Amino acid sequence: MEKREKLYEGKAKVIYTTDDPDTLIMHFKDEATAFDAKKKGVIKNKGVINNRISSRLFKFLEEKGIKTHFVSELTEREMAVKRLDIIPVEVIVRNFTAGSISKRLGVEEGIELKTPVVEFCYKSDELGDPFINASIIKAFGFANQDEVRRMEETSLKVNKLLSKFFDERGIILVDFKLEFGRHKGTLLLGDEITPDGCRLWDKETKEKLDKDRFRRDLGKIEEAYEEVLNKVMG
Ligand code: UDP
Repeated sequence: MEKREKLYEGKAKVIYTTDDPDTLIMHFKDEATAFDAKKKGVIKNKGVINNRISSRLFKFLEEKGIKTHFVSELTEREMAVKRLDIIPVEVIVRNFTAGSISKRLGVEEGIELKTPVVEFCYKSDELGDPFINASIIKAFGFANQDEVRRMEETSLKVNKLLSKFFDERGIILVDFKLEFGRHKGTLLLGDEITPDGCRLWDKETKEKLDKDRFRRDLGKIEEAYEEVLNKVMG
């Protein structure tokens, strides 16, 4: 596969076209942002680590029957993915309270939820990724009824699979964000699954092993990402 021109550059990734119109190359950068890009920094080697973690997790999910955009891991920082028409919705799944749900509901972090929570946000940094619901998604034509239902069902299935996967490796999957898109009419899981978009806590110490270390200036960021990589590969 031959790399062609840059299609899009985001906060943590660059997307390139290839000689195959159905396949893109996703390049992982070391840049990190938080608070809708108001905070910026670099996490050394993050791109390499996230490419490996995401590739491993997509392969695992594919083995379990989840349809994703993952094609193959190409180089240290690059993976081949199926070209998607991205749905501008972030699906957030939560198992424990943390972050925005703790603020919104005035509860401490780390409370186990009785059932997993699925939330939808509209992908827009300018607006601060506002909270939306299925009705808004359908009314604005971001996705149809069937797609909304499948995004929710798939996200809950991914949650079950990944919660077990991480638990077996000594990590609690507190919450995470997924994105979906259409490829030739089929709904596929897209984007990435990495410590940038998941909250991962050490099961024993409850130490944070994710982007909250960057958001909250907790230090030892690279070490945390490295630890997740080692555990995910183990
Ligand atoms: N998340 C993300 N991108 C976003 C918003 C959230 O990857 O634009 C992830 C975040 O890393 C966390 C989960 O989604 O694992 C839930 O985030 P939350 O709604 O608590 O928002 P935050 O506290 O990050 O503002």
